[in-house]
Amino acid sequence: MVMLSQIQRHKTCAVKVGAVTVGGGAPVVVQSMTNTDTADVAATVTQVKELAYAGSEIVRITVNNEEAAAAVPHIKEQLAKQRVFVPLAGCFHYNGHDLLDKYPDMAQALDKYRINPGNVGFGEKKDKQFAMIIETALKYDKAVRIGVNWGSLDQKLSTQLMDENAKREAPMPADAVMREALVQSALISAQQAEELGLGKDRIILSAKVSRVQDLIAVYQELAHRSDYALHLGLTEAGMGSKGIVATAVGEGILLQMGIGDTIRASLTPKVGESRTLEVKVCQELLQVMGIRSFSAQVSACPGCGRTTSTFFQELAQDIQKSLDDNMPRWRKDYPGVEEMNVAVMGCIVNGPGESKHANIGISLPGTGESPVAPVFMDGKKTHTLRGDNIAAEFHALVEDYVKTRYGNGQASKTATA
Ligand code: SF4
Repeated sequence: MVMLSQIQRHKTCAVKVGAVTVGGGAPVVVQSMTNTDTADVAATVTQVKELAYAGSEIVRITVNNEEAAAAVPHIKEQLAKQRVFVPLAGCFHYNGHDLLDKYPDMAQALDKYRINPGNVGFGEKKDKQFAMIIETALKYDKAVRIGVNWGSLDQKLSTQLMDENAKREAPMPADAVMREALVQSALISAQQAEELGLGKDRIILSAKVSRVQDLIAVYQELAHRSDYALHLGLTEAGMGSKGIVATAVGEGILLQMGIGDTIRASLTPKVGESRTLEVKVCQELLQVMGIRSFSAQVSACPGCGRTTSTFFQELAQDIQKSLDDNMPRWRKDYPGVEEMNVAVMGCIVNGPGESKHANIGISLPGTGESPVAPVFMDGKKTHTLRGDNIAAEFHALVEDYVKTRYGNGQASKTATA
């Protein structure tokens, strides 16, 4: 496992969001956002709870009108009654200053305000309305995410930069000017917030775009020019595998550069699909990069012409499901188990080798091999399974391995030995 310390992280100020620390070298935080109507208290409580149970460490909710603003304290209260204490971020556009002013219980209930400099106000009202929000954050001691977005960029600033660029001897491409406008918009707003008295320990920046190369370029600039805590997100990442790949590549490259204190995967769920996939994608991104561990993982080969049945695919799926189901209990009873790797392999070609690299692994027999399945634990062959009961016997061996390896603090003893 690559430890986080092996990635040289960009130094940022730590920001408290409720009980969660973002930045300052704290573990990268996983965030998500609801898609319920916030005014519907029951639906929003249910979805926040679902996201929190899936592992979201901060949940953002839309606060777009008076009904939503009035609902926020009730959402917080009902979550607390159900012992869900995940920090809530309120997402404001256009009327945030008004809502935060008119609904003090909402302003108090939220742990963070997300505002967008591109639509916090227009013309002469912009600075005044921005100041109203910052003053509310100061009054209630809340964090603020200044989140600029490609789709709602500050028009005055982008026009000004475009005009300046046009007068240059060698003008930059329009895309580069837009990226610069995003970076400047975030930094200028953060500086204004500081001038109004909000410390760096209360400010998180984000600059969301929908193209991977733009995301990387913009965040590199933000990290280069400031030490504000940074929230990473590829906006409008999209649906299905495209959204997951784009998010993983864009955010993964930045994380590898040490950039990013908190992340979100802005995936579009299918109608009726759970919103929790975006949490799982963030967790798996952090885990496959060796940055944080959330759940024991199965390494399985893809299968090929050497495998004559779907048995090994089914076993890999069964084992992953059993690991996921057991993980909440195991994490309490067996510290370190979230770093366990289980290999389920289809034949002798890579089976024994990959199984030896895992904590525990099984190499199933491929076509033409004798019908036996060697099991390896910590690099050594310990069992040979055969017959019709291989799946159940391997399940039992995994359970035993967890108890022996991670029970009574065994994992931490080994680590420090
Ligand atoms: S381990 Fe064997 S079954 Fe699996 S992909 Fe490789 S060759 Fe095919």
